Amino acid sequence: MRPQKFTPRADYRLQENLRTQASVSLAEKFRELKSLTVEIAYFNAEGVSKNSELKCTFYPDNAKSVVRFDCHNPECVRGDFDLSATLAQAIAQRRTTVTGEMCCQGWLSKTTIDQVHCHNILRYKISLGYQLRAPVGVIPLRRLERQHGVRERPSAGVAAINHARVHER
Ligand SMILES: [Zn+2]
Repeated sequence: MRPQKFTPRADYRLQENLRTQASVSLAEKFRELKSLTVEIAYFNAEGVSKNSELKCTFYPDNAKSVVRFDCHNPECVRGDFDLSATLAQAIAQRRTTVTGEMCCQGWLSKTTIDQVHCHNILRYKISLGYQLRAPVGVIPLRRLERQHGVRERPSAGVAAINHARVHER
């Protein structure tokens, strides 16, 4: 029997990448979202020295809805920064800018797992733009609903949302 290599960092990153790849696009998840820019700056656990910063522009049609940034600690295990929930909340509230910071909940290195946290800090500024009009597809669906009742399923996404609304009545 071959001994298994202990690579918690690589295993976690692989899993997270698969999760990201498997997620739907931003446009699919947030129909009203037109543009998204995220500016980030990395700080150490004390929040003092700025290690690096970058600005990312996301194209909702192509970008995945899991929005995450790797931790800048090269030894970090099972940490990183996932802004997906923050983003979802911002969009729900129709915010155009959101700033904040996140603390990495990973481990400092693979030799300190279950003992010392990484706690590196990511400061972010999210800028959002929205579609002015309701997404296309809603109006034809309503018409369809009137004609055929709620059992028709013309398309996924908006249709699912609309059906949910219909059932609540
Ligand atoms: Zn970390």
